[in-house]
Amino acid sequence: MLQMKLCGDLVLRTECAPVDKITPEILDVLDQMVDMMVAQNGVGLAAPQVGILSRFLVMMDPDTEIIYKMINPKILSRSTDTTNMEEGCLSVLGSDNLPVYAHVSRPSSVVVEWTDENGTVQTAQMSGVPARIVQHETDHLDGKLFIDYLSPVRREMLMRKVRRRKL
Ligand SMILES: [Zn+2]
Repeated sequence: MLQMKLCGDLVLRTECAPVDKITPEILDVLDQMVDMMVAQNGVGLAAPQVGILSRFLVMMDPDTEIIYKMINPKILSRSTDTTNMEEGCLSVLGSDNLPVYAHVSRPSSVVVEWTDENGTVQTAQMSGVPARIVQHETDHLDGKLFIDYLSPVRREMLMRKVRRRKL
């Protein structure tokens, strides 16, 4: 049974190691992560969020409901134009135990390469919400959280809500 790691846990601040072999265990964890993401109404979940310091993630395009299981994802290029969009994270919860949201500016589109669950290398250009999700989730693999992009004042406002969370 996987457990969600929350903001404050050092596992979320650690760079993850590449996957060198796709094992049945990794495939099983990917399936469990999809279940967890869907159950919590999320659109993405990265391995460190369940305490695994390895480079893989799951995400869903909310429009098409296509689910991606990405192993060793890498953003090959980012557009120079940016979009300001609201973001939340299943590891950054507020007083009601639901994600807290903040606007973050990121490149509007990206080209991403990853290995899928069958071991096939895939490449896709993503824009809109999927581009946003894949950037947020690959950040997790480098120990980065969306709150790192906020100004100190806005980050403090958000963290105040996080600290109010009932334990
Ligand atoms: Zn997140």
